[in-house]
Amino acid sequence: MKFSWRTALLWVLPALVIGFFLWQGSFASTSPATMGRNAANTRMTYGRFLEYLDADRVVSVDLYDGGRTAIVEAIDSELDNRIQRLRVDLPGNSPELVSRLRTEGIHFDVHPVRNDGAVWGLLGNLIFPVLLIGGLFFLFRRSGNVPGGPGQAMSFGKSRARFQMEAKTGVMFDDVAGIEEAKEELQEVVTFLKKPERFTAVGARIPKGVLLVGPPGTGKTLLAKAIAGEAGVPFFSISGSEFVEMFVGVGASRVRDLFKKAKENAPCIIFIDEIDAVGRQRGAGIGGGNDEREQTLNQLLTEMDGFEGNTGIIIIAATNRPDVLDAALLRPGRFDRQVTVDVPDIKGRLEVLKVHARNKKLATEISLEAIARRTPGFSGADLANLLNEAAILTARRRKEAITMLEIDDAVDRVIAGMEGTPLVDSKSKRLIAYHEIGHAIIGTLVRDHDPVQKVTLVPRGQARGLTWFAPSEEQMLISRSQILARIQGALGGRAAEEVVFGDAEVTTGAGNDLQQVTGMARQMVTRFGMSSLGPLSLEGQSSEVFLGRDLMVRSEYSEEIASRIDAQVRSIVEHCYDEARRIVRENRVVIDRLVDLLIEKETIDGEEFRQIVAEYTDIPEKEQYTPQL
Ligand code: ADP
Ligand code: ZN
Repeated sequence: MKFSWRTALLWVLPALVIGFFLWQGSFASTSPATMGRNAANTRMTYGRFLEYLDADRVVSVDLYDGGRTAIVEAIDSELDNRIQRLRVDLPGNSPELVSRLRTEGIHFDVHPVRNDGAVWGLLGNLIFPVLLIGGLFFLFRRSGNVPGGPGQAMSFGKSRARFQMEAKTGVMFDDVAGIEEAKEELQEVVTFLKKPERFTAVGARIPKGVLLVGPPGTGKTLLAKAIAGEAGVPFFSISGSEFVEMFVGVGASRVRDLFKKAKENAPCIIFIDEIDAVGRQRGAGIGGGNDEREQTLNQLLTEMDGFEGNTGIIIIAATNRPDVLDAALLRPGRFDRQVTVDVPDIKGRLEVLKVHARNKKLATEISLEAIARRTPGFSGADLANLLNEAAILTARRRKEAITMLEIDDAVDRVIAGMEGTPLVDSKSKRLIAYHEIGHAIIGTLVRDHDPVQKVTLVPRGQARGLTWFAPSEEQMLISRSQILARIQGALGGRAAEEVVFGDAEVTTGAGNDLQQVTGMARQMVTRFGMSSLGPLSLEGQSSEVFLGRDLMVRSEYSEEIASRIDAQVRSIVEHCYDEARRIVRENRVVIDRLVDLLIEKETIDGEEFRQIVAEYTDIPEKEQYTPQL
């Protein structure tokens, strides 16, 4: 910006006005208008205030101006009981009001009229010239065009706009592991940023937006940072979820500020996390559109269209829900590239573990491969967390290096939560032991069930006892008999309770098991065509209601089919339950022995468990699917 008298005037005039008001105000008492944070812009009449009082909706009252104005905090029953601040002009000093507030126990405060006039008078006289000089100084600084120097992370505080900028992320592609395809695809984006001429020379239009799609913790943020790191450009980031709670207009102005700053620092990366929070389809939310969100989204679209061709800004957005995004976002020229970032497979997990083991001391016995094998379904963040937990345990135990013991404990902790203390010997401890042994015996004796890894009475998280099965790698295909085996295994706990203690003594401990059982049985019928209803798909992938999408996704079948589905589900579960009870009854002797052992030792590992069972009955050979590294 060149210095000119016109711009100078633009700055000086408001400074004069503000200065004048401050100068005036400094002699007056604190009035609600100058109460800073406390100011409430919405007014309420005195009558309404009394109604609110009658309805017990008033939370607190602050009195100002010698009792002539009040700032009231009240519960807004139309807005999820959110607290709203309202300003009320009171009819003069009202002692009855104060006594009423006191009797009803409503929190109130009286703010005195501030009257340290002399000091304020002096300050008031000074403030005017100071402001003028300050304004001029600011003006010159701006015209000097000094952007924030490199190497600093900063937040910009304009209009409550907060977004992060990292001049150097320090993250490289080497730090991102296990998602090779995504990395390869994004390699090109680095070239766009570093050598745009190569593309523009042949007339290619450089893409503006890339959408990273994948579950949380898979490294989307990391990947975006790595692009910035590799290209050596600044990284701006903001999260979509932050917009949702804001006042109307703030989100949009935040987006505007973000793009403005980004343009000043181009080439650069803008990263928008959780874009689905702002980018949901417009006008489709429950209870009407969210104005703020729509304004923010519109501003985002405008900004993306606004910068011409090759300004060197690439916007990377992350989401787990591309299906709910507004179609306008996915149009050419906006987020027209989608890259999927998935939970890593066993090879990927090994790579991620290698990355995070770099700065840790591992005992030589530790095999990262074994860890990778044990952790199907873990995301990159879970694995990072796992190694970190193990390191913390190692430090706590004052060991030199992480051993397999710490790794095991950390895996258990990441999967099932913190260990609690076991119950003292009691009837309920016995019952839990039977429940867990019930799961384990069926897992062992049913051929298609995953083998038992250990049974324990040490509670973790919500569970009071646990049976762990050796995890099998997430298979592409699961057979009907495998699902039936899982249903039987899950029913094993309740079956043992019932056989041993009788129908009247069964407990709520099986609630979680039954939920899983019903889910599996239902899917067999409605999704996988594994019942006598035949090979029909009667339900979509997910029966979850999409907020922001049509609420009315109804199942496409008749009442009659619905009742046949229910009948099928019931028959599957009943059949499996009969089977589970039969196995428990037929193996009662070994179950009793195992329960005694479990109560004594609190944990039995899979090998020992199988040895004991094998003394009494034949264990079917299990086919374990071993993934290849
Ligand atoms: P997302 O943005 O997908 O939710 P993040 O990028 O925030 O996930 O990942 C959180 C942390 O987990 C990262 O800082 C990193 O330490 C670790 N992490 C996740 N995925 C990977 C990966 N593929 N390679 C290495 N580390 C990863
Ligand atoms: Zn159970």
